[in-house]
Amino acid sequence: MHDSPLLISSLIRHAARVFGDQELVTRSVEGPIHRTNYRELHVRAQQLAGALIALGVQPGDRVATLAWNTSRHVEVYFAVSGIGAVCHTLNPRLAPEQLCYILNHAGDVLLFVDLSFVPHLARLGPNCPALRKVIVLSDRAHLPADPDLLAYEDLLAEHPQSFAWPSFDENTASSLCYTSGTTGEPKGVLYSHRSTLLHSFAIALPDLFNLGEHETVLPVVPMFHVNAWGIPYAAAMTGTRLVLPGPKLDGESVYQLLEDERVTMTAGVPTVWMMLLNYMQQHGKRFSTLKRVIVGGSAAPEAMIRTFQDQYGVELRHAWGMTETSPLGTFCSLTPAMKQWPTDEQVAVQRKQGRPAFGVELRIVDDAGTVLPETGEVSGDLQIRGPWVCSAYYKQEGESPTHHPQGWFSTGDVATLDPAGFMQITDRSKDVIKSGGEWISSITLENLAMGHPAVAEAAVIGVAHPRWFERPLLVIVLRPGAELEPTELIDHVAAQVPRWWRPDAVVFVDALPHTATGKVSKLLLRQQLKDYKLPDEPQGTGDAA
Ligand code: ADP
Repeated sequence: MHDSPLLISSLIRHAARVFGDQELVTRSVEGPIHRTNYRELHVRAQQLAGALIALGVQPGDRVATLAWNTSRHVEVYFAVSGIGAVCHTLNPRLAPEQLCYILNHAGDVLLFVDLSFVPHLARLGPNCPALRKVIVLSDRAHLPADPDLLAYEDLLAEHPQSFAWPSFDENTASSLCYTSGTTGEPKGVLYSHRSTLLHSFAIALPDLFNLGEHETVLPVVPMFHVNAWGIPYAAAMTGTRLVLPGPKLDGESVYQLLEDERVTMTAGVPTVWMMLLNYMQQHGKRFSTLKRVIVGGSAAPEAMIRTFQDQYGVELRHAWGMTETSPLGTFCSLTPAMKQWPTDEQVAVQRKQGRPAFGVELRIVDDAGTVLPETGEVSGDLQIRGPWVCSAYYKQEGESPTHHPQGWFSTGDVATLDPAGFMQITDRSKDVIKSGGEWISSITLENLAMGHPAVAEAAVIGVAHPRWFERPLLVIVLRPGAELEPTELIDHVAAQVPRWWRPDAVVFVDALPHTATGKVSKLLLRQQLKDYKLPDEPQGTGDAA
């Protein structure tokens, strides 16, 4: 067989040639609905490719984005990777210090930024010396008066509508995402052209995202969250109509777009669906075209599965993955036999994270690394391997305790595997909290709490929350004789972290449980506090989000 490289440029070239008229609809950052198609998108990606070369971007250079889901952002994806540079999506929800750390670690040379994030630039530009230019993803009329900012539309207009996409090794890096991982220090995961294309083939399959010209897909999951779970690439591969929500992700805005654009499938984290369902229930709304919702990033709660399916007739497909796995690992679709089962039994399966996609393998191991049986009862540390699972963190080659021989990667999730191949997450061994789809570093919060003079020992765990699914709880042992108001400690910690990291509550205890090696046993602590309920109002004064 001919050894053609699997390149991202081939996706957009194919989409333009074969699905040229297929639409991409954006709720733009400027406000109005914007419509384009794959043919126009390819022309503009080629103009941008010419512009990137003119701006001195070399193969392998990192080009950052700080942007919502829009067709301009999709153009940046294809142009940057298409010329052999690396498209690095930054999460705008991070604090400016974290963004600076990540920009500098990646050595980004250009930054494409949405109008919403222009205010961030004052704190970024001066502290990121490698950054040569900032391009605002808008036209000149919307740009603030700043001679250092380039308007995206001006840049495109200066360059020809055709560009000869170069050919190179399919293992070349194509995009970069950072995860906050286990220690709170962000780690980069570099995807390749090959991994991206193989992942696209996998997610497009019928029992997974079921993409194609017949589908209109609204990815609520942001393009800065593991490349919107790979949807922009797989949509171009299959000619899927895309509806991109821009900055408005509240229940009403998402509902309007789902209805107005006749969306058939949508994907995002549970918090977003909670907001959507609340809006619909309060206003008595129904879906007229939506058939399927994909839920990942955190466990899909049983009530959500039932509400979508029983009240709205929308199939919920539960998915599990990580930044390190591109992200798709497992997908929960019922077998034909299961679809004949009583509803309760079907829902019990759907609460599981599902079976591995073709291309990845899973196993569970004990502390000694021994592989455990797949009985559905025994749980162990979940490991995964496959051609879109990362082999090392960016610029940390060979140093990771999570990468093992034969390509196995430790996920930090604790899971069971059943004889039918379904995986279910039962706990998390990595020490992070996930709130509304965003990570919170428990270690950072613990260190800050320990910095308070009244605190002898501190531990932070995630506890269930109706909207954010998990919120941080401070568990504190006070120094002998010390007294401390919860609010004082929460304010002390919150002053130094992003707003959504603010702990919701403090529990004072006489002692924390410890492991044999003297570390706080989060497992025991979580068990001890499993019935703990957060107060209705956070103990601190601020907004829990
Ligand atoms: P993402 O952007 O998909 O949230 P991250 O790398 O930030 O990816 O987070 C991955 C982690 O999120 C997983 O290791 C797991 O702890 C959690 N997670 C993702 N999907 C699920 C799910 N369906 N159920 C439970 N936890 C999940």
